[in-house]
Amino acid sequence: MKRPYNFSAGPSMLPEPVLETIQAELMDYRGLGCSVMELNHRSDAFEEILHGLEARIRRLLKVPEDYAVLFCPGGGRMQFSMVPLNLLGAGVSASYVVTGTWSKGAANEAARFARVHVAYHGNGTKLPDEEMLDIPEDASYVYYCDNETVHGIEFPEPPAAMVGIPVACDMSSNFMSRPFDVSRYGLVWAGTQKNFGIAGLAVVIVRRDLLGLASPEVPTMLNYDTYVRTGNLPNTPPVTQIYVANLMAQWIEKEGGLDVMNTRAIERSSMVYDALDACPHMYATKVDPKARSRMNVTFRLRDEMLTDVFVKEAAEAGFINLAGHRTVGGIRASLYNAMPIEGAAGLSSFIRTFALRHA
Ligand code: PMP
Repeated sequence: MKRPYNFSAGPSMLPEPVLETIQAELMDYRGLGCSVMELNHRSDAFEEILHGLEARIRRLLKVPEDYAVLFCPGGGRMQFSMVPLNLLGAGVSASYVVTGTWSKGAANEAARFARVHVAYHGNGTKLPDEEMLDIPEDASYVYYCDNETVHGIEFPEPPAAMVGIPVACDMSSNFMSRPFDVSRYGLVWAGTQKNFGIAGLAVVIVRRDLLGLASPEVPTMLNYDTYVRTGNLPNTPPVTQIYVANLMAQWIEKEGGLDVMNTRAIERSSMVYDALDACPHMYATKVDPKARSRMNVTFRLRDEMLTDVFVKEAAEAGFINLAGHRTVGGIRASLYNAMPIEGAAGLSSFIRTFALRHA
């Protein structure tokens, strides 16, 4: 069966070999007579999955030894709370670079626990210049979102001005899509439902000297130390999410690793941006070209009446889930690790022919 190309922003497409493995292992995981979802989380088989996932993340990202890799339930938003609750330490202030919906959400949640200094407040179309960032010395950490999923803006690399105090970064929508230097960060976290699996799990990579700072009132399950102390088994963990992330990590390794993921991401997104740039009478792209995301390509039909027509005709042509985020409208094509180059090429020619047909 040929499936349509799925441009959903998350939960999003999984590679077919990963889906096929899940299907093949569903009734009987490796002769154990049950699926991973029915297996005790302290069994040897599940521990092998858990340790395999950590080892693969460490290999793929070359995670230094002085960083812990944690698997936290609660998806992305739980980290909006866990980051300040754990990183504030004795301090009271944290600095947030607000570039779009998700960094704004994180800053709002942090304001419940901290004095939030806003180092930059953008409108979702561009990134700050280095000199626009003034980060107060008393901030316990500075936080930013590497790829704003709703607006489709992505940092080419972390701003240098931030280096010097612990940098906390939300990489939910571009984690495992390119290599990065973990040692530049105090903490990186990512929900897994875009490039690395399914919803409900966050991977947290944290420098060990930033552990142990949470105050005693912080709930046990919101304290990173709990996950370190228990070897990522503080309770029954989200076993399915961990299992699927491990399959994704194996798939990424088999495909050639993070440089390959990055090359493909650039190729896919360039195809779509090129098509949009070739038809400026039909499509408007608001994002500053320097900040264009490799993951989420956002644009609008100049004639807003054509937005629904575009989404409908695209679906009929085999390109599904292209409507923009409910808060901003327009179109959003999410191009994560699992999207084949053919999917991006197909969407790119659909964009061109749609412009001709509706000219
Ligand atoms: N951060 C980013 C960059 C996201 O894209 C999302 C979800 N789309 C979140 C945080 C929130 O994740 P969750 O829905 O798992 O809480």
